[in-house]
Parts: sequence; structure tokens; C-alpha cells
Amino acid sequence: MNPEYDLIVVGGGPAGSTAAAAVALRGHRVLLLERETFPRYQIGESLLPATVHGLCGILGVADEVAAAGFTLKRGGTLRWGRDPKPWQFSFAMTPRLPEPTATAFQVERSRFDEILLRNAARVGAEVREGSPVRRIVADDERVRGVEYTDRDGNSRTAYGRHVIDASGNTSRVHSGVGGARVYSDFFRNLAVFGYFAGGRRLPEPNRGNIFCAAFDAGWLWYIPLRDDLTSVGAVISPEHHPAVQRDPRAAWQDMVRACPEVAELVDGVPAATEPPYDRVRVRKDWSYWKTSFWTPGMALVGDAACFVDPVLSSGVHLATYGALLAARAVNSALDGSVPEGRGFAEFETRYRHEYRVFYDFLIAFYDMERNDESYFWSAKKVTNVDSTEVAAFAELAGGLVSGDTAVLGPERFGDRWSAAAAELDGAVGRLATSDDRTNPLLSTRVVGETFRTGNDLQEQALYGGPLDETAPAAPGHLVASADGLGWERQR
Ligand code: FAD
Repeated sequence: MNPEYDLIVVGGGPAGSTAAAAVALRGHRVLLLERETFPRYQIGESLLPATVHGLCGILGVADEVAAAGFTLKRGGTLRWGRDPKPWQFSFAMTPRLPEPTATAFQVERSRFDEILLRNAARVGAEVREGSPVRRIVADDERVRGVEYTDRDGNSRTAYGRHVIDASGNTSRVHSGVGGARVYSDFFRNLAVFGYFAGGRRLPEPNRGNIFCAAFDAGWLWYIPLRDDLTSVGAVISPEHHPAVQRDPRAAWQDMVRACPEVAELVDGVPAATEPPYDRVRVRKDWSYWKTSFWTPGMALVGDAACFVDPVLSSGVHLATYGALLAARAVNSALDGSVPEGRGFAEFETRYRHEYRVFYDFLIAFYDMERNDESYFWSAKKVTNVDSTEVAAFAELAGGLVSGDTAVLGPERFGDRWSAAAAELDGAVGRLATSDDRTNPLLSTRVVGETFRTGNDLQEQALYGGPLDETAPAAPGHLVASADGLGWERQR
């Protein structure tokens, strides 16, 4: 049978809208099925410049996002590590990009996600909300489509040449690709979060920064969304689960009180009462990945594929970047320029590499915190990472770090993370004496690597490709086309 669609996307969060728009922009027939009716609530409000200026630029929605009135984020302020005083990093520390693009936004996700979803429809995708996907349709050769329930409660089947699952951490269909999710032993936390109807702001130029503060039980985020709205969440170890289950709101308030830096910012400020910000919510933020990100006919992107701890606000970046990589593979397979298997192998290699870069960074970052008396922080020491965890992670990273894993072995992997933590710690110590443009953080291996792909994405949006030659993802790798929407063989 001739499939009705070139691509069917499951889920209309940032990953799904990105994949749908990037394929529709090439004139292909795209169906996006979303369970909810937008706007809908989602957590994950602090963005990175790569999403705002890179991805949104490529999708043609950067101006609309810029005009939406979101809080401008220049970087982060942290009470973290050896230094008892807060320290800052600014996106402007990356010298590769023009100053105005070294910024991001703190967003109400209901509004941000709706802008991306409506953009996907505007550029040609058929978007059906209130349409949950129940099942993948597949035969021995490949995935062929999906079964879903439409707005009127009727069961329907849609057939497509490709299916992308972007239905997030609650995906019901990710098992269509690879086996079960692999959960990290290191990042097994719980998040309890809510909103204040206001809150004090950091002094300029850091007013819009995310503020992250370590405390005994874990760490807190403080995200200024509007003058009268602040998102505050605690990331804590699972041992606090019973208290959170008993009374999430009381547990959340206790955590805020236990962190003096954040308690001071919201002293006397009431909790928000406007829906959807009137609730205190709980999420297990356990990190996981799938052993495979694609199978013939279907790929996983965003939280459906993998998730890594929220401290560096990498979720939306990884989700939208992964979706763009998958869309390139779909576009190149559809126009016949690159065989399907080759394009999706490139997608998987680059996506895993980006995940590994953030994972590496985050382990080193957690290792910086010196509060060894607290159970949470002592359990986060690299020395406590067991060898099965390291082996599983090495497997995830696959060929890209095979040199390291084959030569160094699991214990040395831990050494590498400790060395990166020590390097970061040293760079934070030098921050006070440096100007922004020679930020010592950037000279650390782990930070430099973490920013690289984001910079490339922004240059793709601004200039039609990275200005520097990027390191090959694999020998004979593919490169992005000038519009950023397809793969090309390297010339
Ligand atoms: P989602 O945003 O979850 O979208 C998936 C969509 O699929 C939803 O709209 C859902 O309704 C739909 N759907 C689900 N099932 C079906 C179905 N069967 N059929 C059709 N549709 C379906 N990231 C950041 O960048 N910055 C942060 O500050 C940040 N903070 C975080 C804090 C916490 C505590 C946690 C847990 C995560 C945080 N994240 C953050 C991560 C961020 O929330 C996610 O990475 C991001 O939302 C992933 O986007 P997505 O498009 O993959 O999934």
C-alpha cells in the first residue's frame, strides 16, 4: 500500500514539533499526533542558546520566540562547589558567536511549546491534537504506521514511510525501537517543584539567570519566569521519597527553607495560585537511554530516547537537536540523496555523542560539590560509580569513546571524571579575576566540548554552516546541508 504520509510524528513537544517542521519545510507530507490540546503544562523552563538561536533559527521561528516576551537568560548563577559564594557563568564567554546570540530564555513551556507546534502546522505539517497514539503498526521488515484515537474517540490507523516517536518520558511506544530503557545508577533523583507569585531577582546583568544552589539534601533551581512568577524546584535523592509522597507541598516548602540562598529570595513571597502554577508536582528525574535509537521505519527522539539530569538545562536542547538529526535522515532518505541506513546511523552516532558530552559534564559537575557530610552528595562522588554503571555508559557512548574505554577501562573512566571535576573547580576559583571574554570555564575540556555542538547549531542558523570544521562524528561521516535540514556527503 502507498503510505499516506512521508512522516508520522508521535507527540507535539519541542522534539516532535522540531521533527515535524524540519520535514514539512522540505515539502514532505507530515502528520503530527498529540495526546493533549495545547497549551499544556510541561516542566523544563530554562533554555540554552543553541535552541533559541540555532534550532529556532533553522525552523524559522526565532523572531516569534524573541517577540514572546520571555525572560532573557544570559547564563547561570551557582552556589556550587568549594566556594561558599555564588559564582556566574555567562553564555557570552563563548567567543565564536556574536554577542546578541549569546543569550537564551526562561520560558513558560505551555507558551513556548505552543509556538513551536503552531509553527510546525504553519510550515505544512498536519497537526491533530487530542489524538493519543496507542500502538505502532509494523511488519517483519519495518514500522509502517500508528494506531491512534481521534478527537471524537474513533480508532484510526495512519500509514507513513517513517515514524518518529517524540512522546516524551511517558512514551507508550518507545519499545518499538530497541529493548527496555537503561537507567543510570548515578542520576537517580526525585524532583519536587512549584511556583512563587514573584520573588527577588539577582542584580543586573544576572537578573534573568537560572540560579542553582546545592544544599544538604541535593540542589534547588530558581528560574525567573515573569516578574510575578518564579519556578523553584528541588532535586533530591530517593530517600526523601516518603516525605514527598506524604505531603508534596510541605516537603517542597521544607526544601526551600533548608537552602538559605533561595529562602532569602522568596522570603515573604506567596506561592502562586494561578493555574497551572498552583500545584506542587513531583517527577522522578532518573536518567535513562535506549540501547538503540532507530529501527527501519522508526526513530526515537527527545525524552522518548534519553534523558539526563536537569541541572544544566540540557533537556530541550537534546530533544530538539536529536529531532533535527532524525529529520535530516528522513529528508535525505525521502529525496534519495543518502540511503536510509546511512542517514539514521549518522543521526544515532551524533545524538549519542551529544548525550555523552552532557552526561560526562554532569558527572564531573556533581563531583565538584564538596559537601561530603550529606548523604546525597557523598553518594554522588565519582568513586561511588560502580563498574556496571560505567560499563553501561561506555556501551552507550559506543564507538566514540571506544579509544578511552578500551585503553583505560572502567576505573580510569572514574579518574577522568574526577580530573574534569578538579579542572572545573580550578576554573571556578579563577573566575573572579577574569573578564567575560576569557572565561576560564571555557578553557576546561569538559565545558568546551559541552558548548561545541550548540555553537555549531547557531552558526548553521546564522551563516548556513559551522565556521570551523567540526570533528568528524565517524570516518567518512555526513555533514549537514546548508539549510540544516538534510545530510550531505562530505565534499
Ligand atoms: P515532552 O516535552 O514531554 O513532549 C512530549 C509530548 O508528547 C507531550 O506534549 C505529550 O502530551 C505527548 N504525548 C505523550 N504520549 C503521547 C501519545 N501516546 N500520543 C500522542 N502524544 C503523546 N529541560 C530544559 O531544557 N531545561 C530545564 O530547565 C529542564 N528542567 C527539568 C526539570 C525536571 C525536574 C525534569 C524532569 C526535566 C527538566 N528538563 C529541562 C527536561 C525537559 O522537561 C525535557 O527534556 C523536554 O520536555 C523533552 O521534550 P520532548 O519533546 O522530548 O518531550
